Amino acid sequence: MGQTAVWILGDQLPENHPALQAAEAEAGKENVRVLLVQSQARTHKQPYHRRKLVLLFSAMRHYAAELRARGYQVDYLKAPTFGAGLRQFVQEQQPDRLFTMAASEFNGRSFQQHQLASIVGIPVTLLPNTQFLVGQYDPYPNQNNDKKVVMENFYREMRRHFDVLLEDGEPAGGEWNYDKENRKSLPKEIELPDLPRFEPDSVTQEVMDEVAASDHGIGVVDGFDLAVTRQQALAAFDDFLAHRLPNFGAYEDAMTERHATLFHSVLSPYLNIGLLEPLELIEGAAMAYTAGDAPINSVEGFVRQILGWREYIYWQYWRQMPKLVEQNSWEAKRPLPDFFWSADTDLNCLRHVIERAIGAGYNHHIERLMVLCNFCLLAGIEPMAVNSWFLAHYIDAYEWVMLPNVLGMGLNADGGQTATKPYIASANYINKMGDYCGGCRFNHKQRHGEDACPFSFLYWNFLLQHEEILRANPRLGPNVLGLRYLDDDERTAVRHQAQQFLQNL
Ligand code: FAD
Repeated sequence: MGQTAVWILGDQLPENHPALQAAEAEAGKENVRVLLVQSQARTHKQPYHRRKLVLLFSAMRHYAAELRARGYQVDYLKAPTFGAGLRQFVQEQQPDRLFTMAASEFNGRSFQQHQLASIVGIPVTLLPNTQFLVGQYDPYPNQNNDKKVVMENFYREMRRHFDVLLEDGEPAGGEWNYDKENRKSLPKEIELPDLPRFEPDSVTQEVMDEVAASDHGIGVVDGFDLAVTRQQALAAFDDFLAHRLPNFGAYEDAMTERHATLFHSVLSPYLNIGLLEPLELIEGAAMAYTAGDAPINSVEGFVRQILGWREYIYWQYWRQMPKLVEQNSWEAKRPLPDFFWSADTDLNCLRHVIERAIGAGYNHHIERLMVLCNFCLLAGIEPMAVNSWFLAHYIDAYEWVMLPNVLGMGLNADGGQTATKPYIASANYINKMGDYCGGCRFNHKQRHGEDACPFSFLYWNFLLQHEEILRANPRLGPNVLGLRYLDDDERTAVRHQAQQFLQNL
C-alpha cells in the first residue's frame, strides 16, 4: 500500500485530529504521512501581530514534534504558498490519497473544495471541522438567511442539547442568564492576578528570531510567554479555574488602567488553534460550579461566552459569508484614523487600549466592543478598515471570528443579523465601567464644549443623525428618548462639534 497523506492546517492542532484518525483507520499508522505547511504568502497577506505569528508557528512545530513522538512521519515545510508546499510534498512522498479537515475560514475551505484535488492530483477526503460544537448540533438548520436569530435563544438551545448547567432540565441557579450580575465596577483594593508565563524553549526562541527578522508585522516578539503546546494550554486553563474564574462574572465588563486582563481567561488564542477544545472548557467550568469553587454568575457567564457567543459567531459567519464582507448598514465611509496604528491620541481610554493591542495583541471584550468599536461606529469608520486593523492586532484573530464580531456585533453593519442593537455609548458608560476617565484631559460629564469627551458629542450626534432608524429599534428606544434633554441650541452645538472633530480626524 502507498502512503496516505494528511494535511494539517496551522489553526487545526487538536490532540485527536479527525483527518489523522480517519487516515490511520484506513491505512494504518505506518502508512500515514503528515504535512504541515508554513506559507509565506499567507503570512504576508496583511500585517499580523508578531506574537500571534510566534504562537502559531511555534505551536505548529511543537505539534509536529508531538506527532513524531507518537510514531507518525511528519513533514513541516516552509513554502512560498500552500499550493507550492503541497506540490513539493506530493512530488517527494508520492502519496496516493490525501485527508484534511475543513478550514474554519471561507477562503481556506473554498481552496480545499475547489482547488486542492487538482493541485495534488490525488483523491482528497475533506472531513467536517470538529473545532466547533455547532458542527455537531445546529440549533437552526435550514434557517432562511434573512431571519434574525437572537444569540440568547441560540445559547439556550445549545445548553439544552449539550446538557450544560441544567438541574432537572432547568437552568442551574434558576436563571438562564446572569448578565445583570456581570457588570460590577472594580473595587480599588482588589488584587488582580497575573497570567501564567510559559518561558520560550529553543523551538519558540528560533521562531521568535525568525519572526523578529521579518520587517512585516505589529508589535515585538520580546517577552513572548504564551502557551505553545496542549499541555501548557491546559495549565493556562487550570490557572484560570483556580485564580480568575470565581471573579470572572462580577467584573467581566470592568475596565482599568491598572491591568490588561483582569479576571478574563485569555484562552481564545489556544481555543482558536485547537490546543483547547470548547467542550472541555465548558465542562471544566461547570464542574467548578458543582464543586462550589465558583459562583453561578461567573460559571454561567464563562459558559455563555463559549457555548453561546463563540458558537453563535461561527454560525453567523458561515450563514452570512461571503456577503458579510460587503455589509455597511450605516454607510460608514471614513478612513481609520492614524492614531489606531500609533496610539497617539489624547483620549486616555483609546490610548491605553490601543497601546495594549500593539504591545501584547490582546484587549478584553469590553475594550474591543465599547471602546474601539464604539468609537469607530460613532465616528463612521469604514467597516472593512476596522476589520483589517483588528485582524492585524490580535493574537486570537482569525477571519471567522473577526468579521462577525467587528462588522456584526461591533459596528452593527450587517443589518442587525448578529446584534439586535448597535452597541453605542457615551463617555458616561466608559466612566461607569472603568477608571480611564479619571486620568483623561477630557471631561466625561460634558456633552459638548472645549473639554467635552469626543465619545459624548459623537454619541449624541449619532442619535440625532439616525434618530428615525434608532427610534424604531425597541432596544434603543430609551436611549433615543434621552434626546429630549437636548434643546435646539445643544443639538446645534453637538452637531457642530462632532462635524469639526470628524473633519480633523
Ligand atoms: P474571556 O472573556 O475569558 O471569554 C472566554 C471565551 O469566550 C474566549 O476565550 C472566547 O473564546 C469566547 N468568546 C467570548 N466572546 C466571544 C465572541 N464575541 N466571539 C467569539 N468568542 C467569544 N475573539 C477571538 O477569539 N478572536 C478575535 O479576533 C476577536 N475579535 C473581536 C473583535 C471585536 C470587535 C469584538 C467585540 C470581539 C472579538 N472577539 C474575538 C471576541 C472576544 O472579545 C474575545 O474572544 C475575548 O476577548 C478573548 O479574550 P479571553 O479569552 O480572555 O475571553
